[in-house]
Amino acid sequence: MASLTCLPILITLSLNVMSQTPKNIAILGSTGSIGRNSLSVIHNLLNRFCVTYLSTNTNIELLQSQIAQFKPRGVVVLDEAKAAALRIIVGDSVEVLTGRDGLLEIVRRDDVDIVVNSLVGFAGLKPTIEAIKHRKNIALANKETLVIAGQLVTSLAKEYGVSLLPIDSEHSAILQCLAGEQWSRIAKIILTASGGPFLNMPKEEFASITVEKALNHPNWKMGNKITIDCATLMNKGLEVIEAHWLFDLPMERIDVVIHPQSIIHSMVEFIDGSIKAQLGLPDMKIPIQYALTYPDRVQLSGGRIDFPKLHTLTFLTPDREKFRCLQLAYDAIALGGTAPTIMNAANEVAVQAFLERKIAFHRIPELIEQALAKQINHLSPDLDHTFQSDHKTREYVRTLL
Ligand code: MG
Repeated sequence: MASLTCLPILITLSLNVMSQTPKNIAILGSTGSIGRNSLSVIHNLLNRFCVTYLSTNTNIELLQSQIAQFKPRGVVVLDEAKAAALRIIVGDSVEVLTGRDGLLEIVRRDDVDIVVNSLVGFAGLKPTIEAIKHRKNIALANKETLVIAGQLVTSLAKEYGVSLLPIDSEHSAILQCLAGEQWSRIAKIILTASGGPFLNMPKEEFASITVEKALNHPNWKMGNKITIDCATLMNKGLEVIEAHWLFDLPMERIDVVIHPQSIIHSMVEFIDGSIKAQLGLPDMKIPIQYALTYPDRVQLSGGRIDFPKLHTLTFLTPDREKFRCLQLAYDAIALGGTAPTIMNAANEVAVQAFLERKIAFHRIPELIEQALAKQINHLSPDLDHTFQSDHKTREYVRTLL
């Protein structure tokens, strides 16, 4: 029998729509780009949401102003010295926790209904798992969680009956296109990609790419790691894997098309040939708010598309030879096991090394390819294998720098 539900993992349909009492939110990574945008969304929806916890790695200056504005019960500062400094400033007015354990501690607490996970990279995995096990719904910006342990995380979400709602604009677009549709009627998903700042640069010139040029994204303002991932197209590779797990579709039914204007945020093609697309100006507040109010929509001020001013929307096939990282993501899923974990770890180390000016831009895919060739792939991985693969790959890639 055809499946009547359109979204295999998004079991509980509503995070908030039926409820009169405000939902308590913990934001992991509140001083980053997604965290700041989340707070700006919540600021306009204080009848629906209450911020109970915030977290930062080191940015206690911004965290202090967030504390003053949103009055959370507790905060986590990853850096212990910064946490101690903050305790002196805030006194007893707010609980200050520290370290990775602090993040795990807050997602377990009863005064959290929704966890916004906007941590960067592998660090997002453990808090996601802990939150699911404590039956917290998750608004997920940390796509690496699904790249590294998609199988495990999605089956845990099903087991515990929690919602895993994407904040990523492409996946939010797909979720919006699927409203009212049946999962079994999907032919394929088409993820759009801006193509990043080097779309039209010949590959021979890639060696001359500087950190400044790579951080200059044409359409979106984001954190450094994701901006470099956009420039290599690894971000789209990570998103293809994210879509594979989130929407339970094989990789051959997930296409990527370059769309430099970033107006169409992604599309779904159905079995009758119809295609639905979600459009909007590039503003992360839209997907963040949709994840928090899903399946409801609420007023959000901001710019609106003026179609005559757009003139043209263009589309291109991605060059997977020039942007090798995109192909590596498809390869990693085909290899299975911990290959995506290895790919992700190698990418995180390589991107960091590029940002620290230790390697050239074109070395990023080379290092990932070497790691995929040399590291042991655990074919039926449990969480320990995942951590092992991540750890060993990081060590290995550092020896190549
Ligand atoms: Mg995205």
